[in-house]
Amino acid sequence: MKNITIIGSGTMGNGIAHLFAQHGYSVNMVDVNANALEKGVNTIKKNLDRQLTKGLIDEAVKMATINNITTYTDIKQAVQNADLIVEAATENSDLKLKIFKELDEICPSTTILATNTSSISITKIASVTNRADKVIGMHFMNPVPVMKLVEVIRGYATSNEVTDTIMELSRKLDKQPVEVNDYPGFVANRILMPMINEAIYSVYEGVAGVEEIDTVMKLGMGHPMGPLQLADFIGLDVCLAILKVLYDGFGNQKYAPCPLLVNMVTAGSKGVKSGSGFYDYSGGTKDLVVAANFRKR
Ligand code: NAD
Repeated sequence: MKNITIIGSGTMGNGIAHLFAQHGYSVNMVDVNANALEKGVNTIKKNLDRQLTKGLIDEAVKMATINNITTYTDIKQAVQNADLIVEAATENSDLKLKIFKELDEICPSTTILATNTSSISITKIASVTNRADKVIGMHFMNPVPVMKLVEVIRGYATSNEVTDTIMELSRKLDKQPVEVNDYPGFVANRILMPMINEAIYSVYEGVAGVEEIDTVMKLGMGHPMGPLQLADFIGLDVCLAILKVLYDGFGNQKYAPCPLLVNMVTAGSKGVKSGSGFYDYSGGTKDLVVAANFRKR
């Protein structure tokens, strides 16, 4: 395992590229959007500088990491020698199926196709390929360079060999992999998203304000970040997409996305990536400022 291609350079894609590159792998990072690609590279450089300032890496590691990454807007060029693909494009089922169908056609037959999807069925993604045994979920957490967990999701046809390879690889990346089966939301989001949705319902129903709800969960439950702030970091569009998968997958009303979340995403208020969500990020993410819509009048 030497050559890794990452599809998508957004919140997760650039983090995954950073992680592999820092561990010495040769990384091709692809995005259909050239601006997103540039933004992804800048984020990696900023995060490397932060690691440098904290003394976690030295200048040589920083430079080697940057040099290990090549960027592409053309997927065909980027996958030619890939041993492993980690797809981290937008959370949209049709898009992922299209990407995997194409990857299956253009990648070497030995390439393992992993997806970082938060919730879309691995079995469904694998079904559009002719290598279902080599399709697997590799679910990193945000921010990737910091968070220890990789949820490794076996589709219905994923082989033991491929699962073992991905578990072992995750350990080499200094992560802790956990193997789970392929059901809607897997484990992480099946438990996390109903909590986030309930926090949004609590705002919607006027139970308490944004800061108050996050404070209850931080100080009362020992969570490092409140659920509304966490939703902003994950991306409100991503949260909505995951809740829809849970709702469709189980057919249970308890997963129905809160109408406030639907409205916010429709209005383009997607959290950190759009500059505002439950909090306002126009001044950065350091100080928490409640977004104008949720300030007390
Ligand atoms: P994002 O919106 O920040 O980035 C997605 C990127 O994919 C964009 O830059 C977009 O231009 C690119 N893209 C779209 N179509 C493409 C294509 N055909 N080829 C190449 N690039 C394409 O999204 P994100 O938050 O990074 O999420 C990516 C994936 O990771 C999703 O499946 C999401 O569910 C999952 N995920 C997200 C989080 C999180 O906290 N944000 C955590 C775990 C997993």
